[in-house]
Amino acid sequence: MFAWLSKWPVLRQIRERKDGTGVEAMSEKTLAMHTRIDDADVARSICPYCGVGCGQLIFHKEGKLVSIEGDPESPISQGNLCPKGAASYQLLTHSRRETKVKYRAPRSKEWTEIPLERAMDMVAERVWESRKRTFVHEQGGISINHTTAICHLGGATLDNEENYLIKKLFTGGLGMVCVSNQARI
Ligand code: SF4
Repeated sequence: MFAWLSKWPVLRQIRERKDGTGVEAMSEKTLAMHTRIDDADVARSICPYCGVGCGQLIFHKEGKLVSIEGDPESPISQGNLCPKGAASYQLLTHSRRETKVKYRAPRSKEWTEIPLERAMDMVAERVWESRKRTFVHEQGGISINHTTAICHLGGATLDNEENYLIKKLFTGGLGMVCVSNQARI
């Protein structure tokens, strides 16, 4: 038989007793293709976006992120990710991702870049100033020691230890009573 004829998909199907939906129907070019995760390393993680905590497989190669996919072994999500979780690859790689702290001064129309350390100091200064200005020691003869002027909303993927420290600092340390978490919303 001519060599070219033996490659004819119909003959291959008959010879290999296949139904034409598997590799017998693929061209050599298709067979030579491989996915970008084929030779990547993989690590297990959890989607950072909400309190459901779907399992993710993080594929990486030579220190670079290659793909993020649902983890079929996760008892929570069984390989599924919602559109937000499925797009989390872009959380790290998108060209328009903000990587610098931006600050817009009161009444200004412009954003300026400031160092992270300066931004953290500014937040701390404002929190402390608000706390000092609004702290109530006593009301109606009853000691209450609190402020309702500052609130904190935690992220859904904060773990137990982080939430414990947040509660200690904000409620016990600063007297804040409005402390909640996005996982409850
Ligand atoms: S994949 Fe969607 S549902 Fe699952 S944790 Fe992420 S954001 Fe939540």
